[in-house]
Amino acid sequence: MRIVRVASFSFLFLLTCLLPAAAQNAPAASPTPAPDSAGAATVQTAPAQIAPSQSQSAASFTEVIDKVVEREHFFVAQMRHMHPMVETYLQNLKMDGSGNASPINDQYYLGRLDMSDGPDDVSFVGQPGFGQRIMAKLTGMYSLHFLPLGFAQMVVLDTDFQRKYYNFNFVRREFLGEVRCLVIDVQPKEGQKIARFVGRIWVEDQDYNIVRFNGSYAPAPRLSFFFHFDSWRLNMRPGTWLPAYIYTEESNLKTGLAKNLHFKAQTRLWGYDLKGLGKSEEFTQILVDSPQNVHDQSDAAADASPIMAERMWERQAEENAVDRLTKIGLLAPPSDLDKVLCTVVNNLLVTNNIDLMGDYHCRVLLTAPLESFTIGHTIVLSRGLLDVLPDEASLAMVLAHETAHIVLGHRLDTELAFNDKLFFPDEESFRRLDFKRSAADEAAADAKAIELLKASPYKDKLGNAGLFLKALQEKAPELPNLIRPHLGNSIFNGKDIRMSSLLASAPALDDKRLDQIAALPLGGRIRVDPWSDQVELSKAKPVALESAREKMEFEITPFFPYLTRLSTGGADKVAFTTSQPATTQPPAPDPK
Ligand SMILES: [Zn+2]
Repeated sequence: MRIVRVASFSFLFLLTCLLPAAAQNAPAASPTPAPDSAGAATVQTAPAQIAPSQSQSAASFTEVIDKVVEREHFFVAQMRHMHPMVETYLQNLKMDGSGNASPINDQYYLGRLDMSDGPDDVSFVGQPGFGQRIMAKLTGMYSLHFLPLGFAQMVVLDTDFQRKYYNFNFVRREFLGEVRCLVIDVQPKEGQKIARFVGRIWVEDQDYNIVRFNGSYAPAPRLSFFFHFDSWRLNMRPGTWLPAYIYTEESNLKTGLAKNLHFKAQTRLWGYDLKGLGKSEEFTQILVDSPQNVHDQSDAAADASPIMAERMWERQAEENAVDRLTKIGLLAPPSDLDKVLCTVVNNLLVTNNIDLMGDYHCRVLLTAPLESFTIGHTIVLSRGLLDVLPDEASLAMVLAHETAHIVLGHRLDTELAFNDKLFFPDEESFRRLDFKRSAADEAAADAKAIELLKASPYKDKLGNAGLFLKALQEKAPELPNLIRPHLGNSIFNGKDIRMSSLLASAPALDDKRLDQIAALPLGGRIRVDPWSDQVELSKAKPVALESAREKMEFEITPFFPYLTRLSTGGADKVAFTTSQPATTQPPAPDPK
């Protein structure tokens, strides 16, 4: 093993300050695979049949609208075959004395979108019909409609989008990232019997796909409301733009005599390429293996020793679990980000003279709730947790606890080595897969982790890690769904906090100090490619905070992805750069 200097990658966590709005996730920079010629789902072959006809420029506004409508119908047809993961995290807000809004409670939803019969979703977290549930929670005595056809409709502007139902008004041309768009205001014509979209659409000016729409539905039913949303699509395949991010926000929405509704929510979609994730691996992949690939075992042609057999058995359980989580779309495929995490683990091990023979791995769970756990020798950190960790010392703290489980030889339940244990519907994943440890194992891991950290390059910065824990402890009562883990142990269960001995070394929390960043907003660090699930660190540059209000620890912010266009010529590698908001800020939609 080799010591890798901490300084060589500390730039990754040099985020003294970060402007959340500018740092929102943009798509990740991985090359997307070319469409397969054989065995591909209908979804993947369909765009190619339609794509060639679109490049002619439309002469008049009327023709543009015709093309937009045509493309949107194609989009709806396409979405019926798509089954991405869909995650919504919502924070209810309250105003403090100085007019700043902060979360008072939160809600979480994870499911798989199924539009084969209109927008619908299959829940992973045990509650059907998020739209209904959220409505019940928010409305109290008055009925409040989330969306006409439920929550998942925020991905579709109108399932029956027809020019005869709407008035269209051209506003201007505008760039969203590198993509030039036509900005068009859309309003339902008088006398519509059902609620229709009202707001603004951004249409890319080559193929006339809607890439962003922002508004609500009208007319609202009596005594109720439709929520407002800002919905973004990314160019995931040549000629194909698919929903990736939706921001929802309502402030001071009067829902009753004295009841105000005030919340913000982020919805993310990912896991579109089920085939690439190995959901439907083909038998032909086995048949084409060449004879040379037969394993040469001449050196080790012996049965495994009892100890080796035990290790191999545990490894089989680990691989089964990791493989299953990846295919479902919960775990990102192996990435360079994993290597960054492993480098920190390596620093901890080397400085403590521990040699795991390189047998440890790191992977990213794609969900928002803050959690970390181990599956055998695989350390898993959630996207949400990576997002909010303010610096490398805090990251080292999380990784030290998980590394300690491996060093102490805490076992994985090997029932997962039996493949039938992996036969269950995806939506039961959180119930069937459980990587929780006993309280005794947790305490032992904490003690060992402190030992690892005190001998590590992070030993002088543990006050920062303690500060993160303090902030987490302080905000936890308002954010139970962000703190609640789905697969591992809680970092803070309301009573005990992980690595609690670090709290003592932390300075006092000071909300007013701009140079004290105890935690970051959600969404600032990790970018997920919604097609391939590849993750990478955001390239957004740190931005100096202008006021304490911009700290927004553990909070939700709007999305401003930097849109890019995939080339249609086949070489569909694309460089996603991020961070600057669109060249022109969109006007706020009139909430009336
Ligand atoms: Zn643990």
